Amino acid sequence: LVSVRIKREEKAEKLARDGSVKLHLFLPSKREIWTVLGVEGEHYVDDKEPFCSCKHFHFKVMSNLDKMCSHLKALKIAKAKNTYSKYIFHDGEYYYILRALLKETC
Ligand SMILES: [Zn+2]
Repeated sequence: LVSVRIKREEKAEKLARDGSVKLHLFLPSKREIWTVLGVEGEHYVDDKEPFCSCKHFHFKVMSNLDKMCSHLKALKIAKAKNTYSKYIFHDGEYYYILRALLKETC
């Protein structure tokens, strides 16, 4: 179990470092959509809920078998170290982008 945890730390560190954490910022409202590009594709993440659209989160975290997934961890690290990629959009594109992301992650 300890080795699994270490592996996840490493995975999260790597995701945070290589720009896999993305902020989609919508202006002028400053609404944010965060995604993390993992091995299974792009995941929609929200550290306020917290929520991640990956399988691990759905099966383990939501059933209280685990506290978080590598994507949420990566999001936390990338925010702290300022190593995320930032994409600016106009508010008018919000639902279009959200729909595109949700389609990809579901
Ligand atoms: Zn996840």
